[in-house]
Amino acid sequence: EQLAAACAAMAEQFVPITWTRNDIAAALETSPATDTRNDGFVFTGISTDSRTILSHEIFLALTGDTFDGHGFIPDLVTRGIRGFVVKTGTRINSKEKNTAPGSGPVVYEVPDTLDALGRLGHFQRTRSGANVLAITGSNGKTSTCRMARAIFQTTYDTLATQKNFNNEIGVPRTLLSLSCAHQWAVVEMGMNQPGEMSRLSRIAGPDICVVTNTTGAHLEGLKTADNVAREKARIFDQAVSGSVAVLFNDDPRVRILKDHARNTPAIEKILTFGSDDTADVYATDIRSSGGMTRFLGHIHGETARFHLQSPARFMVFNALAALAAAAAAGIRIPDMQAGLAAFAPVSGRLSIQTLPGGIHLIDDTYNANPASMTQALVTLAEMAKDPATYGTGRTVAILGDMRELGPDSEHLHRSVGQTAAKLGITRLYLYGPLSSHMLAGALAEGMAKDTVFHGSKQEIEDRVQAFVRSGDWILVKGSRGMAMETFIARMQTLL
Ligand code: ATP
Ligand code: MG
Repeated sequence: EQLAAACAAMAEQFVPITWTRNDIAAALETSPATDTRNDGFVFTGISTDSRTILSHEIFLALTGDTFDGHGFIPDLVTRGIRGFVVKTGTRINSKEKNTAPGSGPVVYEVPDTLDALGRLGHFQRTRSGANVLAITGSNGKTSTCRMARAIFQTTYDTLATQKNFNNEIGVPRTLLSLSCAHQWAVVEMGMNQPGEMSRLSRIAGPDICVVTNTTGAHLEGLKTADNVAREKARIFDQAVSGSVAVLFNDDPRVRILKDHARNTPAIEKILTFGSDDTADVYATDIRSSGGMTRFLGHIHGETARFHLQSPARFMVFNALAALAAAAAAGIRIPDMQAGLAAFAPVSGRLSIQTLPGGIHLIDDTYNANPASMTQALVTLAEMAKDPATYGTGRTVAILGDMRELGPDSEHLHRSVGQTAAKLGITRLYLYGPLSSHMLAGALAEGMAKDTVFHGSKQEIEDRVQAFVRSGDWILVKGSRGMAMETFIARMQTLL
């Protein structure tokens, strides 16, 4: 009987929080423009996708560059969807033949449906009672989110961003799946344009704000790295009172972030992570071998060993960011150790596989910018030095264009080529129009002509196949739009 009661209580907790018409009106600060229903109908959730919407959900119509959710409304009315959030002035014919009197749709009209989605997400975040850990930065957001989720899960019921849903659609979507049982939400926040971070902060209302680092990623819209840092600092804008900022001590622009944090009354405390004891949380004794990295973590004067399932040294910084956030959330060190050890990199983000032919493949095809290219090349070079996994010491990099870099693009590609040459990468295969500047950079830095090649996918695959042998390491990386994962698929069948 006790067990049944406990089960019932638990089931209740995990049931999604329903939306009454009053809840929606409160979240949107507007009453329905049309409400022909005369019952106490409640919605089970908010959906923006006409393909996956459930019968008791309310449909929110988003408008994108290439689609308009409003176009699906007539069909959804016919399918019996009973609630809509639409742009002011949208006509909805509720006099469908199969709609009984008093059971038609409820329609909320708003000036901006994207803004409405954010308000609904924020409302859910507030009433669920969960705390929010918000993570932004130029690189390492998703990795840090996943590490934080692994660590937070040891201690709290934790919800985390799925995939890379880090924009004004993704952030509210994550928050909308909060239930009363969740204690923490780990939310990734990206940014492509000025103002976006501040809006994301308003939606999420963070209790802990992490900025992993600020580099020149997405410079096109923001001009300088200082501007990137200032914009990222807007994550503090709507932090809840008594919140904590977690900042990268080694970041050349950490000062900008600290100043913003200090000028935000809601931020009570700043915690830093970095490479030495001038940070609150730092690592020493970092060793990579066999695709793993081990380090000694120093957290507020306490010391503990950590294992990370990643070959990349920079992942240690992401781990330190997650550990600092965990410390701020009161998680115990043994739980941090267990949680971090459970983290596994997602495929496409520096994930390693060994092919049947004994060749090690580092798949970093998910995306690329200059900082992450450099990091990935450093990781590749380190693999060849590492005696535990080191077979031949030969390293192969298959690199594609880095897109959206603005006017500096040519120069930035050139310097990636130079970096590859300086690191002593054995063979460099380059794909895409912009990567011809990598070729120029590598040659200028003294890489021998017959070790660098720029060409088509097919040509590159043929050459790589002819060159590599068991024990070699291959890195594949480029911008999302370059679809570098097709190389991975080919290597898996060829090698
Ligand atoms: P996006 O902006 O695409 O969402 P993200 O910030 O979520 O990216 P991740 O997906 O964690 O970042 O990592 C993307 C790539 O960035 C990794 O594959 C790696 O090459 C690089 N990277 C990750 N963390 C760092 C870091 N701390 N410093 C430098 N490069 C990093
Ligand atoms: Mg991401």
